[in-house]
Amino acid sequence: MNKTELIRWHLGYLGQKHSVIPLATHKDFLEAKTEEELQKSKEGIEEQERIWRSKPPKVCSICKIEYYGWGNNAWPVNNGRCCDTCNQLDVIPARFARVSDNP
Ligand SMILES: [Zn+2]
Repeated sequence: MNKTELIRWHLGYLGQKHSVIPLATHKDFLEAKTEEELQKSKEGIEEQERIWRSKPPKVCSICKIEYYGWGNNAWPVNNGRCCDTCNQLDVIPARFARVSDNP
């Protein structure tokens, strides 16, 4: 999944403010080959959205946007929790950068 696709997902699945869908589900959806696979993936996404949105949202410590679900450890960007998008775009690259700086 490229950066544009990831941001598009974060900004909203089916016009919602932003998606709560974990990356594994994004992948199922994006890689669906048949109409049946696509429908199955969408139903799974909608069910997960429904469950997570029944709980109060958390605020990402990096982008400050509300998110649902477990979130991620934002270290080394900061000491809080962050959304899946910031995890992919900021936190994971920062961890790789630290590893390559300290071989
Ligand atoms: Zn974020």
